[in-house]
Amino acid sequence: MSSQQKVRVRFAPSPTGGLHLGGVRTALFNYLFARHHQGEFILRIEDTDQTRFVAGAEEYINECLAWCGISPDESPAKPGAFGPYRQSERKPSYRQYAEQLVANGYAYYAFDTAEELDQQRKLQPNFRYSHENRMSLRNSLSLSEAETKALLDEGVAHTIRIKMPEDEVVSFEDMIRGRVSFETKLIDDKVLLKADGMPTYHLAVVVDDKAMEISHIFRGEEWLPSAPVHLLLWEYLGWKDQMPQWAHLPLILKPDGNGKLSKRDGDRLGFPVYAMNWTDPKTGDLTKGFRELGFLPKAFVNMLGVLGWNDGTDQELFSVDELISKFSVERISKSGAKFDFEKAKWFNHEWIKKSDNEDLMPYIKKALANAGVLEINLDRVNTVLSVVKERLTYVSDFWGQASFFFEEPKEYDVDAVKPKWNADKTVFFENMLAEFEKQEDWTASTLEPLFKSKVAESGMKIGELMMPYRIMLVGGKFGPDVFVITELLGKETVIIRVKKALELFK
Ligand code: GLU
Repeated sequence: MSSQQKVRVRFAPSPTGGLHLGGVRTALFNYLFARHHQGEFILRIEDTDQTRFVAGAEEYINECLAWCGISPDESPAKPGAFGPYRQSERKPSYRQYAEQLVANGYAYYAFDTAEELDQQRKLQPNFRYSHENRMSLRNSLSLSEAETKALLDEGVAHTIRIKMPEDEVVSFEDMIRGRVSFETKLIDDKVLLKADGMPTYHLAVVVDDKAMEISHIFRGEEWLPSAPVHLLLWEYLGWKDQMPQWAHLPLILKPDGNGKLSKRDGDRLGFPVYAMNWTDPKTGDLTKGFRELGFLPKAFVNMLGVLGWNDGTDQELFSVDELISKFSVERISKSGAKFDFEKAKWFNHEWIKKSDNEDLMPYIKKALANAGVLEINLDRVNTVLSVVKERLTYVSDFWGQASFFFEEPKEYDVDAVKPKWNADKTVFFENMLAEFEKQEDWTASTLEPLFKSKVAESGMKIGELMMPYRIMLVGGKFGPDVFVITELLGKETVIIRVKKALELFK
Protein backbone atom coordinates (compact mmCIF):
# COMPACT_ATOMS: atom_id res chain seq x y z
CA MET A 1 0.00 0.00 0.00
CA SER A 2 1.43 3.36 -0.94
CA SER A 3 1.84 5.73 1.95
CA GLN A 4 -0.37 8.44 0.42
CA GLN A 5 -3.28 6.16 -0.24
CA LYS A 6 -6.13 6.67 2.16
CA VAL A 7 -7.53 3.42 3.44
CA ARG A 8 -11.21 3.15 2.62
CA VAL A 9 -12.92 -0.19 3.05
CA ARG A 10 -16.51 -1.21 2.77
CA PHE A 11 -18.90 -3.78 4.10
CA ALA A 12 -21.43 -4.35 1.35
CA PRO A 13 -24.22 -6.64 2.48
CA SER A 14 -27.35 -7.38 0.51
CA PRO A 15 -30.43 -6.81 2.67
CA THR A 16 -31.80 -10.31 2.27
CA GLY A 17 -32.27 -11.44 5.87
CA GLY A 18 -30.47 -11.81 9.18
CA LEU A 19 -26.69 -11.54 9.40
CA HIS A 20 -24.79 -14.80 9.57
CA LEU A 21 -21.77 -14.63 11.83
CA GLY A 22 -19.58 -14.89 8.72
CA GLY A 23 -21.08 -11.63 7.52
CA VAL A 24 -20.33 -9.95 10.81
CA ARG A 25 -16.77 -11.24 10.68
CA THR A 26 -16.39 -9.72 7.22
CA ALA A 27 -17.64 -6.40 8.59
CA LEU A 28 -15.30 -6.73 11.57
CA PHE A 29 -12.17 -7.45 9.53
CA ASN A 30 -12.90 -4.49 7.28
CA TYR A 31 -13.43 -2.35 10.35
CA LEU A 32 -10.27 -3.55 12.12
CA PHE A 33 -8.20 -2.92 9.01
CA ALA A 34 -9.67 0.56 8.59
CA ARG A 35 -9.10 1.53 12.23
CA HIS A 36 -5.61 0.03 12.25
CA HIS A 37 -4.69 2.29 9.33
CA GLN A 38 -6.66 5.34 10.48
CA GLY A 39 -8.86 4.80 7.46
CA GLU A 40 -12.56 4.86 6.81
CA PHE A 41 -15.11 2.10 7.10
CA ILE A 42 -18.14 2.36 4.86
CA LEU A 43 -21.45 0.52 4.93
CA ARG A 44 -22.98 0.16 1.49
CA ILE A 45 -26.30 -1.58 1.04
CA GLU A 46 -26.29 -3.73 -2.11
CA ASP A 47 -29.98 -3.88 -2.88
CA THR A 48 -30.02 -4.07 -6.67
CA ASP A 49 -31.67 -7.47 -6.68
CA GLN A 50 -35.19 -6.37 -5.89
CA THR A 51 -36.45 -9.95 -5.96
CA ARG A 52 -34.30 -10.79 -2.96
CA PHE A 53 -35.06 -7.63 -1.00
CA VAL A 54 -36.42 -8.32 2.48
CA ALA A 55 -38.14 -5.67 4.56
CA GLY A 56 -36.38 -4.88 7.82
CA ALA A 57 -33.06 -6.42 6.76
CA GLU A 58 -31.26 -3.08 6.45
CA GLU A 59 -32.43 -1.97 9.89
CA TYR A 60 -31.25 -5.32 11.21
CA ILE A 61 -27.80 -4.78 9.69
CA ASN A 62 -27.56 -1.32 11.27
CA GLU A 63 -28.63 -2.60 14.65
CA CYS A 64 -26.26 -5.51 14.44
CA LEU A 65 -23.24 -3.34 13.63
CA ALA A 66 -24.25 -0.96 16.42
CA TRP A 67 -24.54 -3.83 18.88
CA CYS A 68 -21.05 -5.04 17.94
CA GLY A 69 -19.64 -1.52 18.18
CA ILE A 70 -18.58 -1.64 14.52
CA SER A 71 -19.61 1.87 13.61
CA PRO A 72 -19.41 2.95 9.97
CA ASP A 73 -17.91 6.32 9.10
CA GLU A 74 -20.26 6.55 6.13
CA SER A 75 -23.53 4.69 5.61
CA PRO A 76 -27.11 5.28 4.43
CA ALA A 77 -27.86 6.57 7.92
CA LYS A 78 -24.68 8.67 8.06
CA PRO A 79 -23.99 9.86 4.53
CA GLY A 80 -20.55 11.17 3.68
CA ALA A 81 -19.21 12.66 0.46
CA PHE A 82 -19.66 9.49 -1.63
CA GLY A 83 -23.42 8.89 -1.35
CA PRO A 84 -25.95 7.60 -1.86
CA TYR A 85 -25.00 4.49 0.08
CA ARG A 86 -27.83 2.29 -1.17
CA GLN A 87 -27.23 0.91 -4.64
CA SER A 88 -30.89 1.16 -5.61
CA GLU A 89 -30.53 4.93 -5.17
CA ARG A 90 -27.50 4.95 -7.44
CA LYS A 91 -29.40 3.31 -10.30
CA PRO A 92 -28.91 6.17 -12.82
CA SER A 93 -25.13 5.97 -12.47
CA TYR A 94 -24.65 2.46 -13.82
CA ARG A 95 -26.07 2.41 -17.36
CA GLN A 96 -23.43 4.74 -18.78
CA TYR A 97 -20.69 2.29 -17.79
CA ALA A 98 -22.50 -0.67 -19.28
CA GLU A 99 -23.00 1.33 -22.51
CA GLN A 100 -19.33 2.36 -22.48
CA LEU A 101 -18.37 -1.32 -22.28
CA VAL A 102 -20.64 -2.11 -25.24
CA ALA A 103 -19.19 0.78 -27.25
CA ASN A 104 -15.67 -0.47 -26.57
CA GLY A 105 -16.48 -4.05 -27.51
CA TYR A 106 -16.28 -5.50 -24.00
CA ALA A 107 -19.99 -6.12 -23.59
CA TYR A 108 -23.05 -6.61 -25.77
CA TYR A 109 -26.82 -6.25 -25.80
CA ALA A 110 -28.70 -9.52 -25.31
CA PHE A 111 -32.33 -9.65 -26.45
CA ASP A 112 -33.13 -13.21 -25.45
CA THR A 113 -36.31 -13.31 -23.42
CA ALA A 114 -36.59 -15.13 -20.13
CA GLU A 115 -38.74 -17.76 -21.89
CA GLU A 116 -36.12 -18.30 -24.59
CA LEU A 117 -33.42 -18.79 -21.99
CA ASP A 118 -35.64 -21.14 -20.00
CA GLN A 119 -36.16 -23.13 -23.17
CA GLN A 120 -32.38 -23.38 -23.62
CA ARG A 121 -31.98 -24.56 -20.04
CA LYS A 122 -34.56 -27.24 -20.63
CA LEU A 123 -32.71 -28.44 -23.69
CA GLN A 124 -29.32 -28.37 -21.98
CA PRO A 125 -29.27 -28.63 -18.20
CA ASN A 126 -25.75 -27.16 -18.10
CA PHE A 127 -26.61 -24.23 -20.31
CA ARG A 128 -24.49 -21.12 -19.82
CA TYR A 129 -24.41 -18.03 -21.95
CA SER A 130 -20.82 -17.93 -23.11
CA HIS A 131 -18.38 -17.66 -25.98
CA GLU A 132 -19.35 -21.19 -26.98
CA ASN A 133 -22.93 -20.37 -27.88
CA ARG A 134 -23.32 -16.59 -27.88
CA MET A 135 -23.26 -16.44 -31.69
CA SER A 136 -26.32 -18.67 -31.87
CA LEU A 137 -28.30 -16.60 -29.35
CA ARG A 138 -30.07 -13.28 -29.91
CA ASN A 139 -27.63 -10.52 -29.15
CA SER A 140 -25.78 -7.63 -30.72
CA LEU A 141 -22.89 -9.92 -31.59
CA SER A 142 -24.99 -12.41 -33.52
CA LEU A 143 -27.39 -9.88 -35.07
CA SER A 144 -26.41 -7.31 -37.62
CA GLU A 145 -25.86 -3.71 -36.59
CA ALA A 146 -29.09 -2.70 -38.32
CA GLU A 147 -31.10 -5.43 -36.59
CA THR A 148 -29.67 -4.45 -33.24
CA LYS A 149 -30.42 -0.80 -33.82
CA ALA A 150 -33.98 -1.59 -34.83
CA LEU A 151 -34.56 -3.63 -31.68
CA LEU A 152 -33.09 -0.90 -29.50
CA ASP A 153 -35.16 1.79 -31.25
CA GLU A 154 -38.30 -0.27 -30.72
CA GLY A 155 -37.46 -0.38 -27.03
CA VAL A 156 -37.24 -4.18 -26.92
CA ALA A 157 -36.24 -5.34 -23.44
CA HIS A 158 -32.61 -6.35 -23.25
CA THR A 159 -29.78 -6.98 -20.88
CA ILE A 160 -26.14 -6.07 -21.25
CA ARG A 161 -23.67 -8.93 -20.86
CA ILE A 162 -19.92 -8.93 -20.46
CA LYS A 163 -18.09 -10.49 -23.40
CA MET A 164 -15.77 -12.89 -21.62
CA PRO A 165 -12.54 -13.48 -23.52
CA GLU A 166 -12.52 -16.89 -25.12
CA ASP A 167 -9.25 -18.14 -23.74
CA GLU A 168 -7.29 -15.91 -21.41
CA VAL A 169 -5.85 -16.29 -17.95
CA VAL A 170 -6.84 -13.55 -15.55
CA SER A 171 -4.95 -13.28 -12.32
CA PHE A 172 -4.48 -11.01 -9.36
CA GLU A 173 -2.56 -10.89 -6.10
CA ASP A 174 -4.90 -11.67 -3.22
CA MET A 175 -3.68 -10.21 0.08
CA ILE A 176 -4.32 -13.53 1.83
CA ARG A 177 -3.92 -16.14 -0.88
CA GLY A 178 -1.19 -14.65 -3.03
CA ARG A 179 -1.52 -15.03 -6.80
CA VAL A 180 -4.88 -16.42 -7.90
CA SER A 181 -5.58 -17.26 -11.56
CA PHE A 182 -8.71 -18.01 -13.51
CA GLU A 183 -9.33 -19.29 -17.02
CA THR A 184 -11.86 -17.12 -18.80
CA LYS A 185 -13.00 -19.99 -20.98
CA LEU A 186 -14.71 -21.46 -17.92
CA ILE A 187 -16.65 -18.28 -17.13
CA ASP A 188 -19.99 -17.34 -18.62
CA ASP A 189 -20.99 -13.96 -20.04
CA LYS A 190 -22.46 -12.50 -16.86
CA VAL A 191 -25.32 -10.05 -17.09
CA LEU A 192 -24.12 -6.56 -16.10
CA LEU A 193 -27.30 -4.56 -16.61
CA LYS A 194 -30.70 -6.15 -16.25
CA ALA A 195 -33.73 -5.52 -18.44
CA ASP A 196 -35.22 -3.25 -15.75
CA GLY A 197 -32.14 -1.03 -15.94
CA MET A 198 -30.80 -2.18 -12.61
CA PRO A 199 -27.19 -3.28 -12.57
CA THR A 200 -26.30 -6.74 -11.38
CA TYR A 201 -24.00 -7.15 -8.43
CA HIS A 202 -20.97 -7.50 -10.72
CA LEU A 203 -21.34 -4.14 -12.40
CA ALA A 204 -22.57 -2.29 -9.33
CA VAL A 205 -19.79 -3.54 -7.09
CA VAL A 206 -17.07 -2.36 -9.46
CA VAL A 207 -18.67 0.99 -10.29
CA ASP A 208 -19.31 1.74 -6.63
CA ASP A 209 -15.96 0.60 -5.34
CA LYS A 210 -14.42 2.99 -7.86
CA ALA A 211 -16.82 5.84 -7.13
CA MET A 212 -16.40 5.45 -3.39
CA GLU A 213 -12.60 5.32 -3.72
CA ILE A 214 -12.37 1.97 -1.97
CA SER A 215 -8.75 0.99 -1.41
CA HIS A 216 -9.06 -2.54 0.02
CA ILE A 217 -11.77 -5.16 -0.06
CA PHE A 218 -12.19 -7.87 2.55
CA ARG A 219 -14.95 -10.22 1.57
CA GLY A 220 -15.86 -13.86 2.00
CA GLU A 221 -14.17 -16.57 0.01
CA GLU A 222 -17.49 -17.34 -1.69
CA TRP A 223 -16.88 -14.24 -3.82
CA LEU A 224 -13.58 -15.48 -5.18
CA PRO A 225 -15.19 -16.99 -8.34
CA SER A 226 -16.59 -13.52 -9.13
CA ALA A 227 -13.18 -11.89 -8.87
CA PRO A 228 -12.14 -12.47 -12.54
CA VAL A 229 -15.33 -10.77 -13.75
CA HIS A 230 -14.64 -7.82 -11.48
CA LEU A 231 -11.02 -7.69 -12.47
CA LEU A 232 -11.88 -7.54 -16.16
CA LEU A 233 -14.44 -4.83 -15.48
CA TRP A 234 -11.83 -2.70 -13.71
CA GLU A 235 -9.60 -3.19 -16.71
CA TYR A 236 -12.27 -2.67 -19.41
CA LEU A 237 -13.54 0.47 -17.75
CA GLY A 238 -10.00 1.84 -17.85
CA TRP A 239 -9.53 1.93 -14.09
CA LYS A 240 -7.04 -0.88 -13.58
CA ASP A 241 -4.46 1.31 -11.88
CA GLN A 242 -7.01 2.30 -9.25
CA MET A 243 -8.20 -1.21 -8.52
CA PRO A 244 -8.50 -1.94 -4.80
CA GLN A 245 -6.52 -4.72 -3.22
CA TRP A 246 -8.57 -7.78 -2.45
CA ALA A 247 -8.54 -10.19 0.44
CA HIS A 248 -10.88 -13.17 0.31
CA LEU A 249 -11.49 -14.29 3.87
CA PRO A 250 -11.41 -17.99 4.74
CA LEU A 251 -14.76 -19.68 5.16
CA ILE A 252 -16.25 -20.34 8.55
CA LEU A 253 -16.70 -24.09 8.62
CA LYS A 254 -19.10 -26.43 10.35
CA PRO A 255 -17.81 -27.73 13.72
CA ASP A 256 -16.63 -30.98 12.09
CA GLY A 257 -14.83 -29.03 9.38
CA ASN A 258 -16.98 -30.47 6.58
CA GLY A 259 -18.14 -27.50 4.58
CA LYS A 260 -19.38 -24.00 5.19
CA LEU A 261 -21.33 -23.30 8.38
CA SER A 262 -24.93 -22.67 7.42
CA LYS A 263 -28.02 -21.47 9.19
CA ARG A 264 -29.32 -25.03 9.05
CA ASP A 265 -26.28 -26.30 10.97
CA GLY A 266 -27.21 -23.99 13.81
CA ASP A 267 -30.76 -25.34 13.90
CA ARG A 268 -29.46 -28.89 13.70
CA LEU A 269 -26.76 -28.54 16.34
CA GLY A 270 -28.63 -26.16 18.62
CA PHE A 271 -26.57 -22.99 18.51
CA PRO A 272 -27.12 -19.60 16.92
CA VAL A 273 -25.54 -18.72 13.60
CA TYR A 274 -27.02 -15.24 13.35
CA ALA A 275 -25.72 -12.29 15.33
CA MET A 276 -29.15 -11.31 16.64
CA ASN A 277 -32.62 -12.83 16.49
CA TRP A 278 -34.12 -12.55 13.04
CA THR A 279 -37.78 -13.02 12.27
CA ASP A 280 -38.52 -13.69 8.63
CA PRO A 281 -41.23 -11.15 7.77
CA LYS A 282 -42.87 -13.53 5.29
CA THR A 283 -42.95 -16.79 7.19
CA GLY A 284 -42.69 -15.44 10.74
CA ASP A 285 -39.89 -17.99 11.38
CA LEU A 286 -37.48 -16.96 14.09
CA THR A 287 -33.77 -17.63 13.72
CA LYS A 288 -32.00 -17.24 17.03
CA GLY A 289 -29.10 -14.91 17.59
CA PHE A 290 -26.08 -14.62 19.86
CA ARG A 291 -27.31 -11.36 21.36
CA GLU A 292 -30.56 -12.75 22.69
CA LEU A 293 -28.87 -15.87 23.98
CA GLY A 294 -26.92 -13.65 26.37
CA PHE A 295 -23.65 -12.99 24.58
CA LEU A 296 -21.77 -9.81 25.41
CA PRO A 297 -20.90 -7.93 22.22
CA LYS A 298 -17.23 -7.78 23.23
CA ALA A 299 -17.16 -11.57 23.60
CA PHE A 300 -18.91 -12.06 20.26
CA VAL A 301 -16.48 -9.66 18.56
CA ASN A 302 -13.46 -11.29 20.20
CA MET A 303 -14.66 -14.74 19.12
CA LEU A 304 -15.13 -13.53 15.53
CA GLY A 305 -11.83 -11.68 15.55
CA VAL A 306 -9.92 -14.91 16.08
CA LEU A 307 -11.93 -16.98 13.59
CA GLY A 308 -9.27 -17.18 10.94
CA TRP A 309 -6.83 -14.71 12.49
CA ASN A 310 -4.33 -14.83 15.34
CA ASP A 311 -1.63 -12.50 16.55
CA GLY A 312 1.10 -15.15 16.37
CA THR A 313 1.01 -15.88 20.11
CA ASP A 314 -1.27 -18.00 22.27
CA GLN A 315 -3.33 -15.01 23.30
CA GLU A 316 -7.04 -15.55 22.77
CA LEU A 317 -8.74 -12.78 24.70
CA PHE A 318 -8.60 -9.47 22.86
CA SER A 319 -10.53 -6.28 23.43
CA VAL A 320 -11.62 -4.46 20.27
CA ASP A 321 -8.84 -1.92 20.82
CA GLU A 322 -6.28 -4.68 21.00
CA LEU A 323 -7.69 -6.30 17.87
CA ILE A 324 -7.39 -2.95 16.11
CA SER A 325 -3.82 -2.40 17.14
CA LYS A 326 -2.67 -5.98 16.46
CA PHE A 327 -4.67 -6.70 13.30
CA SER A 328 -2.56 -7.67 10.32
CA VAL A 329 -3.57 -9.21 7.01
CA GLU A 330 -0.45 -11.41 7.07
CA ARG A 331 -1.87 -13.31 10.02
CA ILE A 332 -5.21 -14.15 8.41
CA SER A 333 -5.19 -17.84 7.61
CA LYS A 334 -5.81 -19.20 4.15
CA SER A 335 -7.70 -22.24 5.30
CA GLY A 336 -11.24 -22.32 6.66
CA ALA A 337 -11.86 -21.72 10.36
CA LYS A 338 -13.92 -24.31 12.20
CA PHE A 339 -16.67 -22.85 14.31
CA ASP A 340 -16.67 -24.23 17.84
CA PHE A 341 -19.69 -23.22 19.88
CA GLU A 342 -18.18 -24.44 23.15
CA LYS A 343 -15.27 -22.09 22.50
CA ALA A 344 -17.71 -19.26 21.76
CA LYS A 345 -19.29 -19.89 25.16
CA TRP A 346 -15.87 -19.86 26.76
CA PHE A 347 -15.20 -16.40 25.31
CA ASN A 348 -18.44 -15.14 26.75
CA HIS A 349 -17.75 -16.66 30.16
CA GLU A 350 -14.27 -15.12 30.23
CA TRP A 351 -15.59 -11.70 29.23
CA ILE A 352 -18.32 -11.81 31.84
CA LYS A 353 -15.65 -12.55 34.47
CA LYS A 354 -13.48 -9.72 33.15
CA SER A 355 -16.30 -7.18 32.99
CA ASP A 356 -16.95 -4.60 35.68
CA ASN A 357 -20.24 -5.06 37.49
CA GLU A 358 -21.25 -1.68 36.20
CA ASP A 359 -20.98 -2.86 32.58
CA LEU A 360 -23.02 -5.95 33.33
CA MET A 361 -25.68 -4.13 35.33
CA PRO A 362 -28.01 -3.32 32.40
CA TYR A 363 -28.22 -7.03 31.54
CA ILE A 364 -28.69 -7.98 35.17
CA LYS A 365 -31.46 -5.48 35.67
CA LYS A 366 -33.17 -6.88 32.60
CA ALA A 367 -32.82 -10.44 33.87
CA LEU A 368 -34.32 -9.35 37.20
CA ALA A 369 -37.16 -7.46 35.51
CA ASN A 370 -37.91 -10.49 33.32
CA ALA A 371 -38.19 -12.53 36.49
CA GLY A 372 -40.60 -9.99 37.96
CA VAL A 373 -38.12 -8.47 40.43
CA LEU A 374 -38.70 -4.80 39.86
CA GLU A 375 -37.64 -3.21 43.10
CA ILE A 376 -33.99 -3.81 43.62
CA ASN A 377 -31.41 -2.74 46.11
CA LEU A 378 -28.46 -1.90 43.88
CA ASP A 379 -25.84 -2.60 46.53
CA ARG A 380 -27.27 -6.02 47.12
CA VAL A 381 -27.50 -6.81 43.40
CA ASN A 382 -23.89 -5.73 43.08
CA THR A 383 -22.78 -8.02 45.87
CA VAL A 384 -24.74 -10.94 44.48
CA LEU A 385 -23.32 -10.30 41.02
CA SER A 386 -19.76 -10.33 42.35
CA VAL A 387 -20.46 -13.67 43.97
CA VAL A 388 -22.11 -15.42 41.00
CA LYS A 389 -20.31 -13.70 38.12
CA GLU A 390 -17.79 -16.45 37.54
CA ARG A 391 -20.58 -19.00 37.21
CA LEU A 392 -22.27 -17.30 34.27
CA THR A 393 -21.88 -18.51 30.71
CA TYR A 394 -24.49 -16.05 29.46
CA VAL A 395 -25.56 -12.82 31.09
CA SER A 396 -29.06 -14.24 30.95
CA ASP A 397 -27.95 -17.06 33.30
CA PHE A 398 -27.98 -14.59 36.17
CA TRP A 399 -31.49 -15.38 37.35
CA GLY A 400 -30.96 -19.11 37.18
CA GLN A 401 -27.77 -18.78 39.23
CA ALA A 402 -28.96 -16.16 41.70
CA SER A 403 -32.76 -16.31 42.06
CA PHE A 404 -32.46 -17.76 45.56
CA PHE A 405 -30.90 -14.50 46.73
CA PHE A 406 -34.11 -12.69 45.79
CA GLU A 407 -36.85 -15.20 46.52
CA GLU A 408 -37.41 -18.51 48.23
CA PRO A 409 -36.47 -21.49 46.07
CA LYS A 410 -39.53 -22.61 44.13
CA GLU A 411 -38.43 -26.23 44.32
CA TYR A 412 -36.06 -28.22 46.50
CA ASP A 413 -34.09 -31.14 45.20
CA VAL A 414 -35.66 -33.42 47.80
CA ASP A 415 -34.63 -36.55 45.90
CA ALA A 416 -30.96 -35.73 46.43
CA VAL A 417 -31.43 -35.64 50.20
CA LYS A 418 -34.39 -37.66 51.36
CA PRO A 419 -33.17 -41.22 50.66
CA LYS A 420 -30.14 -40.64 52.91
CA TRP A 421 -31.90 -38.65 55.60
CA ASN A 422 -31.99 -39.86 59.20
CA ALA A 423 -32.91 -38.66 62.65
CA ASP A 424 -29.28 -37.66 63.41
CA LYS A 425 -29.40 -35.17 60.58
CA THR A 426 -32.62 -33.68 61.88
CA VAL A 427 -31.00 -33.28 65.30
CA PHE A 428 -27.92 -31.74 63.74
CA PHE A 429 -29.89 -29.07 61.89
CA GLU A 430 -32.08 -28.35 64.90
CA ASN A 431 -28.96 -27.78 67.01
CA MET A 432 -27.42 -25.72 64.28
CA LEU A 433 -30.49 -23.54 64.10
CA ALA A 434 -30.29 -22.91 67.80
CA GLU A 435 -26.63 -21.86 67.41
CA PHE A 436 -27.38 -19.67 64.42
CA GLU A 437 -30.21 -17.93 66.26
CA LYS A 438 -27.76 -16.88 68.98
CA GLN A 439 -25.20 -15.71 66.49
CA GLU A 440 -24.49 -11.95 66.55
CA ASP A 441 -21.66 -11.76 64.01
CA TRP A 442 -23.36 -12.95 60.82
CA THR A 443 -20.41 -13.34 58.50
CA ALA A 444 -19.16 -16.26 56.45
CA SER A 445 -15.88 -16.21 58.36
CA THR A 446 -17.57 -16.93 61.69
CA LEU A 447 -20.44 -19.07 60.43
CA GLU A 448 -18.25 -21.52 58.54
CA PRO A 449 -16.10 -22.58 61.55
CA LEU A 450 -19.21 -22.70 63.69
CA PHE A 451 -20.96 -25.04 61.26
CA LYS A 452 -17.86 -27.19 60.93
CA SER A 453 -17.37 -27.52 64.67
CA LYS A 454 -20.99 -28.65 64.99
CA VAL A 455 -20.38 -31.23 62.27
CA ALA A 456 -17.30 -32.48 64.12
CA GLU A 457 -19.34 -32.79 67.35
CA SER A 458 -22.00 -34.78 65.52
CA GLY A 459 -19.50 -37.36 64.27
CA MET A 460 -21.00 -37.21 60.79
CA LYS A 461 -19.09 -36.40 57.63
CA ILE A 462 -19.00 -32.83 56.39
CA GLY A 463 -20.29 -33.71 52.91
CA GLU A 464 -23.33 -35.48 54.34
CA LEU A 465 -24.45 -32.22 55.90
CA MET A 466 -23.10 -29.53 53.59
CA MET A 467 -25.01 -30.77 50.57
CA PRO A 468 -28.39 -30.82 52.35
CA TYR A 469 -27.61 -27.43 53.84
CA ARG A 470 -26.94 -26.00 50.41
CA ILE A 471 -30.19 -27.43 49.07
CA MET A 472 -32.03 -25.88 52.01
CA LEU A 473 -30.83 -22.43 51.04
CA VAL A 474 -30.61 -22.70 47.28
CA GLY A 475 -33.05 -25.44 46.29
CA GLY A 476 -30.43 -27.41 44.33
CA LYS A 477 -26.82 -28.52 44.16
CA PHE A 478 -25.43 -25.34 42.68
CA GLY A 479 -24.32 -21.83 43.59
CA PRO A 480 -21.31 -20.18 45.17
CA ASP A 481 -19.77 -20.92 48.55
CA VAL A 482 -22.56 -21.92 50.90
CA PHE A 483 -21.32 -19.71 53.76
CA VAL A 484 -21.14 -16.70 51.50
CA ILE A 485 -24.74 -17.50 50.59
CA THR A 486 -25.56 -17.82 54.29
CA GLU A 487 -24.07 -14.42 55.05
CA LEU A 488 -25.80 -12.70 52.14
CA LEU A 489 -29.22 -14.20 52.81
CA GLY A 490 -29.11 -12.95 56.40
CA LYS A 491 -30.01 -14.69 59.62
CA GLU A 492 -33.78 -14.43 59.38
CA THR A 493 -34.03 -15.88 55.85
CA VAL A 494 -31.58 -18.69 56.59
CA ILE A 495 -33.56 -19.75 59.64
CA ILE A 496 -36.85 -19.68 57.76
CA ARG A 497 -35.43 -21.73 54.87
CA VAL A 498 -33.73 -24.33 57.03
CA LYS A 499 -36.92 -24.84 59.04
CA LYS A 500 -39.04 -25.15 55.95
CA ALA A 501 -36.69 -27.56 54.19
CA LEU A 502 -36.31 -29.71 57.31
CA GLU A 503 -40.02 -30.43 57.13
CA LEU A 504 -39.61 -31.58 53.52
CA PHE A 505 -36.55 -33.72 54.15
CA LYS A 506 -37.64 -35.47 57.33
N1 GLU B 1 -23.30 -7.81 -1.79
C1 GLU B 1 -22.33 -8.82 -1.57
C2 GLU B 1 -22.80 -9.61 -0.35
O1 GLU B 1 -23.96 -9.67 -0.14
C3 GLU B 1 -20.98 -8.19 -1.36
C4 GLU B 1 -19.82 -8.94 -1.87
C5 GLU B 1 -18.60 -8.07 -1.91
O2 GLU B 1 -18.16 -7.62 -0.83
O3 GLU B 1 -18.09 -7.79 -2.99
O4 GLU B 1 -22.05 -10.17 0.39
